[in-house]
Parts: sequence; structure tokens; C-alpha cells
Amino acid sequence: MKPITDIQGRWKLNNGVDMPYLGLGVYQADDGQEVVDAIQYALDAGYRNIDTASIYKNEEGVGQGFRESGYAREDVFITSKVWNTDQGYNNTLDAFEASLERLQLDYLDLYLIHWPVSGKYKDTWRALEHLYKEEKVRAIGVSNFMQDHLEDLLSTATIIPMVNQLEFHPFLVQQSLIDYCHAHKIQYQAWSPLMQGKAFHQDAFDAIAKQYDTSVAQLILRWSLQKGVMSIPKSTNKKHIESNADLFDFEISEADMQRLDAMDRGERTGPDPHNFDF
Ligand code: NAD
Repeated sequence: MKPITDIQGRWKLNNGVDMPYLGLGVYQADDGQEVVDAIQYALDAGYRNIDTASIYKNEEGVGQGFRESGYAREDVFITSKVWNTDQGYNNTLDAFEASLERLQLDYLDLYLIHWPVSGKYKDTWRALEHLYKEEKVRAIGVSNFMQDHLEDLLSTATIIPMVNQLEFHPFLVQQSLIDYCHAHKIQYQAWSPLMQGKAFHQDAFDAIAKQYDTSVAQLILRWSLQKGVMSIPKSTNKKHIESNADLFDFEISEADMQRLDAMDRGERTGPDPHNFDF
């Protein structure tokens, strides 16, 4: 098991960069005060990792929230992503600069290809390799890449992605993809770890959470970390932001890890990377 210490704990990516394994996701957080406040709550609670994307239309608020918080740039790990319509070599370089401009930052910690747009993602990846070599971003990666996408990308890539961010929760484990990523030293990261809120309506999770005297969110996020999967739960609610990260004082037993793994039913809350049309 990878070491799990506290909210600021980090795991090393394949290029040696230390990345906090727990972060705040801000999908569907309004640009402006909502996201500004969420960033402040998260950083004050100890989070050191923020996940945004150009398509979330809140990079300006994320940048503002970070600046107003007063935390040092090198202490906070900030991720953004290139959107599908911006893919291709030159478009990606432009999209990256536009994200930096909105965030008012001079570098990103991690830049991801948001979705594997067919016929484009290899050129997009070359642009990310260029940005990485120019030291405009400390790590580069992909999102929603299944094994066939990764095999295709790796056939021409000169840099192996450091991260693959995918939908992941007990109803969608995709263990063989996790194993493939770990074998290639690509860090697996979970999106929609709480199934966009659906996790809170499952008796099976309630029963296990009760055993550990934790919330369902704490249980599922802890399960993710114990599986070596980073996670970026989203909330803009101060109490939820704080409690979601309060998961470092208990450990899920091997038997209960297996019980949660066994709930896998291949159920998605978001789009299928093999079948999306945006
Ligand atoms: P999530 O699984 O994190 O769930 C978020 C929902 O759960 C929100 O409605 C929130 O209000 C609620 N919630 C959170 N904590 C709670 C608590 N303790 N009690 C009750 N309700 C709670 O969903 P998500 O936002 O889809 O995913 C997390 C992050 O992953 C996103 O914000 C985004 O940064 C990233 N993401 C990436 C992709 C991608 O394609 N790469 C896709 C979706 C999301």
C-alpha cells in the first residue's frame, strides 16, 4: 500500500514530482464567489490540490481564490485540462496559454488531455510534451483514456503520461485498467469518486461506514486511497469540504476493501470514453 499520512500527503509521479493524493474538484462550481470561497475553505482545511478545467468555466475564480488565500504558489498543486474542441498541436498550445491567463498563473502543476478525441489526441499529446519540456507545466497526463487509448498513445509518445484521471468509485472499479496504469507508472486518479452524490443513497455503503463510525464520503475516499488511487471530491460546502478530508484516523480492513471492490458493476455516472460525442 502507498503511504497514506494526512491531508497534505503526496505520492511521487513517474517524473519525481510529488502530488497531493487528495484534492478539491470544482466541476459545476460557479465562477466567482462560490468557487473563490470553496478554494479558501479547502486550503484552510489543509487541501493542497485543486482540479479545474477550461470547460468548467471557473479558472478565473480558481485563480482568484488561490491568490486571495495567500498560500504560496509552490505549496498548492493546480491542475487544468485541454478541452476537446481545443485539441490538436497548435490549438492546445493556445488553449494552455489561455488557461494560464484566466488563472493568472505562470505555470501549471498538471495539464491533462480531458478526453481521448479520436484522430487528435496524439497531436495534443505532442503539444503537452512541448509544454513540459519548456517547463511551463510540472507534469502532464491524460483523462478518460482506456487501455487501448493508452496503448495507441504510448506507441508514439516520448513521455509517458504521469496521470490518468478517470471515473472511479465502488460501482466502477475497472481493476484491469488500474493494473495497466500502475504497471506503466501512470498514476490513477478518480473523478466523481462520490458518484456525483449518488453514493449517499446506497444502503451497502451506509452499513460499512457505520462499522467505522465514518461518513459514506470518508469511507469511499479512504477506500480509493488505500487502492493507490488519488481522488478529487467536489464540494463548495465548507462542512463537506472539511469532513471529506477527515479520513486519516481509520483504516479499512482487507476484508472490507474486498467487500467494496466486489460492489463493482461497471456502472457509470458520466460518459463512456469509448462512446462520447462531444
Ligand atoms: P463527486 O463524485 O465529487 O460528487 C460531487 C457531489 O457530491 C456534489 O453534488 C457535492 O455537493 C456532493 N457532496 C460532496 N461531498 C459531500 C458530502 N460530504 N455530503 C453530501 N454531499 C456531498 O462528483 P464530480 O464533481 O463529478 O467529480 C469530482 C471532480 O472530478 C470534479 O469536480 C472535477 O474536478 C473532476 N471531474 C473530472 C472529469 C473528467 O472528465 N476528467 C469528469 C467529471 C469530474
